[in-house]
Amino acid sequence: MAVNYFYPEYEAARNYDRCINCRVCEKQCANSVHEYIEELDKMTSDDSKCVNCHRCVSLCLTRALKIVKSGNTYRENANWSAGIMNELYRQAETGGVLLSSMGNPEPYPVYFNKILINASQVTNPSIDPLREPMETKVILGAKPQIIERDKAGKIKNNLPPQLNLSIPIMFSAMSYGSLSYNAHESLARAAEEMGILYNTGEGGLHEDFYRYGKNTIVQVASGRFGVHRAYLEAGAAIEIKMGQGAKPGIGGHLPGSKIVGDISKTRMIPEGSDAISPAPHHDIYSIEDLRQLVFSLKTATGFKKPVIVKIAAVHNVAAISSGIARSGADIIVIDGFRGGTGAAPTRIRDHVGIPIELALASVDKRLRDEGIRDRVSIVAGGGIRSSADIVKIIALGADAVYIGTSALLAMGCHLCRSCHTGKCNWGIASQIPELTRRLNPDIAYKRLVNLLKAWEHEIKEMMGGMGINSIEALKGNRLMLRGIGLNARELDVLGIRHAGE
Ligand code: SF4
Ligand code: SF4
Repeated sequence: MAVNYFYPEYEAARNYDRCINCRVCEKQCANSVHEYIEELDKMTSDDSKCVNCHRCVSLCLTRALKIVKSGNTYRENANWSAGIMNELYRQAETGGVLLSSMGNPEPYPVYFNKILINASQVTNPSIDPLREPMETKVILGAKPQIIERDKAGKIKNNLPPQLNLSIPIMFSAMSYGSLSYNAHESLARAAEEMGILYNTGEGGLHEDFYRYGKNTIVQVASGRFGVHRAYLEAGAAIEIKMGQGAKPGIGGHLPGSKIVGDISKTRMIPEGSDAISPAPHHDIYSIEDLRQLVFSLKTATGFKKPVIVKIAAVHNVAAISSGIARSGADIIVIDGFRGGTGAAPTRIRDHVGIPIELALASVDKRLRDEGIRDRVSIVAGGGIRSSADIVKIIALGADAVYIGTSALLAMGCHLCRSCHTGKCNWGIASQIPELTRRLNPDIAYKRLVNLLKAWEHEIKEMMGGMGINSIEALKGNRLMLRGIGLNARELDVLGIRHAGE
């Protein structure tokens, strides 16, 4: 007799007094959880397939459905949780590496939740952002240490290329292939409307999106998928991806099942072949090698575009960043271990890397100590959930942030963490036409714009409350932060004092 080691994690609880057998849930669930049984004239559910994406719940007009966490328990203890036991059973069954999507869910400290923001009172009064100017514009790129002017006051320096952002927020790298065409279009249109940038990720740039070039960062990753001269020239900046917060130290893998049609053309690889990017760039084994790639890309684009180097937040991130700053890169991206992904080995995602708050603070301090902070801008990503997180990370030293998961949520993602299955019921992380057409770019792009405008307003309010009227004045302003419930070592790394001090 077969033994069933697993009990469903979620249950679709149906209120039969409300259910009208409209079968919407059956049509909407790509995981085939719901089924209409004609003989019984009744809907039933196979709970074992439910990933709790809430699609059926959101579309059930009579509110007959809710997804509940299964009440079934294992004999858990502090050492062996139900999750760990389930994962072990799965590996014993399949012999395979566990795969997951989205960011690290483990209960490590979230330092954003342990940092509080200051407010002005009496002296240095607060500023009302509705009545007084408040500057949220950010200019990213290497800055000269000394500004030289001619007799007429004109700047004589040859300024390196810069990126102008209306707010200190960009959409992080998410490739066409891991995301649907409609999701990419939504990001590109929102970036254009808001005067910020989105990022192609390692999937190349679909020919339809070349028109958003001035709002696009084109990525060069270890697989070099979709990288060619026109691609490099199309973007406003070029990002070399050395690492990613969700999977430091390993490459990427988009399964062949997702390499179809335009995705195969855009990546310049045959349909159905797996897109595997190697863990290292095979031409980079030192900072000198990285420097060569930075300069190759600059030369290829006439020194007109800033070059960004993206790394994962790992133990020696400050030393690595110091090397990158000296490699000629204009912008460094630090990606924390809570950063999302379309697919990553679960063990890597959950156990490798460090939080962005600690990584960013130590990078900023190291570059300032070495007197090279102005040589590069720093963008922080991996776990930014709100405007308050943005204010805190900028006060810790970032120039701007990347958001990925937050942007997906704005478009409708319900964090079911099943992107790697390709069956995203919200049409975001899928290439199945019946699913991708569920995401209407006219609506999704507007929701992204709404989110960014709301955050812009909140950032202005928080800055005004601190008596600060520009992002530039907030940057690295640790006096505006206090820790709560942190030990002396943590406060030291963050470079902030404890609340009450
Ligand atoms: S997977 Fe999503 S759509 Fe399917 S039953 Fe579960 S919550 Fe509903
Ligand atoms: S993008 Fe789709 S599959 Fe991925 S977590 Fe969000 S809703 Fe789930």
